[in-house]
Amino acid sequence: MKPTPFDYTAPSTVGEAVALLADEEREAKVMAGGQSLIPMLNMRLARPELLVDITRIPELGRLHVDESGDLRIGAAVRQAHAAADHAVRDGWPLLAAAIGHIGHPQIRNRGTVCGSLAHHDPAAELPTAALALDARFVITGPRGTRTVVAEDFFVATFSTAVEADELLTEVVFPRPPAQRGWAFEELTRRHGDFATVGVAAVLERDTATDTCRAARVVFCGAGPVPVRLPAAEDALVGSDVGEQALATAAHAALSHLTPSDDVHATAEYRREGAARLLVRACTTAWERC
Ligand SMILES: Cc1cc2nc3c(=O)[nH]c(=O)nc-3n(C[C@H](O)[C@H](O)[C@H](O)COP(=O)(O)OP(=O)(O)OC[C@H]3O[C@@H](n4cnc5c(N)ncnc54)[C@H](O)[C@@H]3O)c2cc1C
Repeated sequence: MKPTPFDYTAPSTVGEAVALLADEEREAKVMAGGQSLIPMLNMRLARPELLVDITRIPELGRLHVDESGDLRIGAAVRQAHAAADHAVRDGWPLLAAAIGHIGHPQIRNRGTVCGSLAHHDPAAELPTAALALDARFVITGPRGTRTVVAEDFFVATFSTAVEADELLTEVVFPRPPAQRGWAFEELTRRHGDFATVGVAAVLERDTATDTCRAARVVFCGAGPVPVRLPAAEDALVGSDVGEQALATAAHAALSHLTPSDDVHATAEYRREGAARLLVRACTTAWERC
């Protein structure tokens, strides 16, 4: 199928892009890497009159660690660029690992980090990594700029806190604490597919007591948004992340997750997979602390 006719423009500033998105005369849509948007146009799931290509806006192409040690990734930064960056690999390796699970090199060479977050497919890896890493989202629109925390950013399947006339300009990952271990695991039928179910685990070790000081366990493919599992986290915090604590955390996944059935897998299969991935991810994360 071919898309409905549309105009294309590539502004050079955020201000111009926002003015185009806010124009009520015609429906405009942001285009970043186009890896999800172009298929949606071809299938006529989206019919914008204007595509606003944000990848030529210089200030959005920046990836850097700021003076407070936070990682800031602009909206035009490609997934492959972020995954290869030394600062990302050293300080936020979970992010690089999650990107490694996205599709294929061609997709990651074009697709942007922020594009995947703004698109918010519930089976996508980056929203889950962003919640596990407690990311913040900088959104600019005609009413100014605001920052939204990850817990509030993902609203529903393919829906986020970004309004139609707004732009996600940057995602910010807080400075990693010392003694933090991580792991990302997912279940797919073929390498490069979206996750049937996946998990990001981030654990912190208290070296004085050799117990877990903090834990974040977040699933993709287990609901309409990335699903954090406090019951599993509670089982891990204060423990030695041994067999008993892992069994309790896995049981929490089996009893609390409510994924849905679809053509790819039953809910039961997803739940069982999630529990097993949790054990594997938390074991690895603990070894890395
Ligand atoms: C064959 C194939 C396999 C794939 N496999 C995977 C996979 O395994 N895992 C996975 O997570 N993804 C996968 N993807 C999707 C890929 O990660 C996309 O790159 C990503 O979902 C969207 O990023 P993008 O930069 O291409 O955004 P685009 O396609 O340009 O945009 C996607 C949507 O987000 C909006 N948008 C983009 N950027 C912004 C912004 N800064 N502010 C506001 N709105 C914005 C657009 O308007 C559009 O609605 C796959 C894609 C393909 C084609």
